[in-house]
Formats: sequence, structure tokens, C-alpha cells
Amino acid sequence: MATVPGRLHVRSDGRVAGPATIEYNDPFPCVNGSWGSGDMNGVVMHTMVGNLPGTISVFNQASYQASAHFGIDQQGKIHQFGPIGKGWIAWAQVAGNEAWYSIEHADNGNTQNPLTDAQITASAQVVEVLSRFAGFPLQVTDSVTGRGYGIHNMGGEAWGGHTCPGPGPRSGQRAAIIELAKQIRHQHATPTQTWQAKALAQAGALAVALTALTADLQGDALVKAKAIEADAAALADLLGQHQ
Ligand SMILES: [Zn+2]
Repeated sequence: MATVPGRLHVRSDGRVAGPATIEYNDPFPCVNGSWGSGDMNGVVMHTMVGNLPGTISVFNQASYQASAHFGIDQQGKIHQFGPIGKGWIAWAQVAGNEAWYSIEHADNGNTQNPLTDAQITASAQVVEVLSRFAGFPLQVTDSVTGRGYGIHNMGGEAWGGHTCPGPGPRSGQRAAIIELAKQIRHQHATPTQTWQAKALAQAGALAVALTALTADLQGDALVKAKAIEADAAALADLLGQHQ
């Protein structure tokens, strides 16, 4: 993957937004869902056994009695079915609905098709923002008592008894998604630290130069130079505390 995508954020209305292709279900939320979720353990990977348009169609039929928080197609388009942080519960994995977010991934009807790079990127962006928002760790988990990025079939009969997102490579692709999610999270730290280190070096050099200058000064000029020297030292100290 050439570049690390940007970070998403959760808007005050529960819609996820940011540098990705994101659309919102109409109506929002979709009819299949309920209210009352609280602390979230993580997010669950699902596969559609189909494609995004068909999944949107059935999730908007009340008789279907199923939904998810997000759907992602092969081009990386993200469809959000209901709000984050408002207690909305998607109906994706039965007993696992209340404490787990859910993401459906398009597979063109065959779970053996690996996730595309665009799907991995979009899934990493969604997992990263959910993890940051709800406070669960960026890690793979295969246990309903764990936290992180799980899979539908880890819940067994209590979660509906599905093989989803298998059989196939998709469950294993969570490792690449989590790795990218970590890069998304940390990407902004690098330029900040580079900037701070450069500023610290410059402030330190300024303080040293002023110290040398004061040796050649006397009277009012010496007093003023000493004051600037103290300011430069204080600036270097401040920057040093925030590296
Ligand atoms: Zn599933």
C-alpha cells in the first residue's frame, strides 16, 4: 500500500466522516436496529456473500431483521447504516450485537475472494476510528470475551452459528487491517515530533549564540542580551518538555 490514509472522526450526529468515500443510509439509521448499547468490546468482521447494493437493499427491509453498522464495497466505499455513540444497536451477530460494532464486506458472492486493497484501507480507517472512539485496542481477537477486531464465527451458536467471514482468507486479513490501522493512528505523530525536534535544536543554538555574544557586550546592551538569552533558554526548556 503506497500511502497511509487519513484519520476519520465521529461527528456529533454519530456519522463518521473524513478522508474516505462515505455515504449514509436513507433513512438514518436503517429500520433494522434498536437502541441501548453501551461499552463496546470491539468490532466484528462480516462478509456479505454478495455485494453492497444488495446488502443495502435487504438491510432496508423491515422483514429482513438484520443490519450492520457499516458496509464496505470492493472500491473502498463505506456505507454507514446507523450512528456511532448514540446507543444504536445493529442486528449483525445476535448475542454479540450490544457490545460489538459490525462491518460487512462485499465479496461478489464468494467468501474465497480476498478483500481488495481498497477494502483493507477503508476497513482500517473504520476500525481505527471506532477503536479510538470507544477505547478498545487495535488488535485481532478470536474470542467473545476479548477486545479488538473479531469475526462473526467466534460467537458460535449464540451469535447465529455462521461460518462468516469464511471460509477463505478474509479472517486472516484482519492482521493487515490492524497493522494499517496502527499506521493511520500514528501517522500524525511523526511530523509533529520532527517539527518539535527542529524547533528545540534552533532554540538551543540561539541560547548558545546569545551566551557567546554577552561576552563582548557591556552596559545596557549586556542587560538586553542577557534578557533575550533567558527567553531563548526558557523556549528551549519548554520545547524539551514536549518532545
Ligand atoms: Zn456475518
